Amino acid sequence: MIVHLIARAKGPIEDAIIHSLRQVVGAYSLLFLTPGKMIAARDPGGFRPLVLGRFGRAHVVASETTALNLMGARLVREIEPGEILIFEPNSAPKSIKPFFRAPTTRCVFEQVYFARPDSRVFGHSVQASRQELGRALAREMRGIEADMVVPVPDSGVPAALGFSRESGIPFEVGFVRSHYVGRTFIQPAQVLRDASVSLKLSPVRETLEGKRIVLVDDSIVRGTTSRKICRMLRRVGVREIHMAISSPPIISPCYYGIDTPQRDELIAARRKPDEVRRFIGVDSLHHLSVEGMLRAAGGGDGTVTKAASDSGYCAACFTAEYPTSTPDFE
Ligand code: SF4
Repeated sequence: MIVHLIARAKGPIEDAIIHSLRQVVGAYSLLFLTPGKMIAARDPGGFRPLVLGRFGRAHVVASETTALNLMGARLVREIEPGEILIFEPNSAPKSIKPFFRAPTTRCVFEQVYFARPDSRVFGHSVQASRQELGRALAREMRGIEADMVVPVPDSGVPAALGFSRESGIPFEVGFVRSHYVGRTFIQPAQVLRDASVSLKLSPVRETLEGKRIVLVDDSIVRGTTSRKICRMLRRVGVREIHMAISSPPIISPCYYGIDTPQRDELIAARRKPDEVRRFIGVDSLHHLSVEGMLRAAGGGDGTVTKAASDSGYCAACFTAEYPTSTPDFE
């Protein structure tokens, strides 16, 4: 769509890009290559990350800092929300901010799940933020009794570590994970998602049998993957499962580039909390609060304490409060 707008615009390429992006509402982090220029652009809300790096004399632009690390480039800085950077040979990059100022709306789900733990996103270590999400959840679940904290690998691992350290309940590796199967909630069909879970995770009976566990995961989307995992745990003799989710219930779809399902497929949008607990098959089900999540995503330093709309984050899939107008095709 953006390329189409640019193709119809007149004038030099920078002007065509600015003219086109002024007509677009929502999330984008873009890189354009022309025969003589490289142009990077981030939307005025800054939904998605975008960083600038240096590799010798070359400039590098990437979504996540881990890409810079992998190629041996040095992080220079985050490209700011609403900033356009124009790179030309033999000159310093030119920065312009041609959009009206907008509230910052960084996607909090990047910290919860999407970004790689070895990245820094929005100025914070993703690994540290996820551990802090787990610590915050342990504080909100104070008094829970269990023999061990078990993560759903791999995305639940940092939060489970944080939970274990905060609660004092020992951390155990309860699953062996195959690394050859992709993210299950993005698989297009239920039958593929089910097959992926069984192929991906194998519970360790010797560790789990007869135990009361806190099972830590980052989020619940449809609930079908969690249900399958819990059935596997019951089959190896787990006595009690207390499911601890390091984000609030997902009640609304994302319109900012993440392929989450429509509302009627989101289990928390359709069922009451106790119905979700029974569907998944756990003894208790706990979610981190919106406030706890926003505070932890902000780096755990207590600077983010207000409602989602004041935090500098988008949390719309958890609150249904969208920072922009949304399409009405549901
Ligand atoms: S709706 Fe959710 S996934 Fe989408 S940008 Fe907002 S926080 Fe991120």
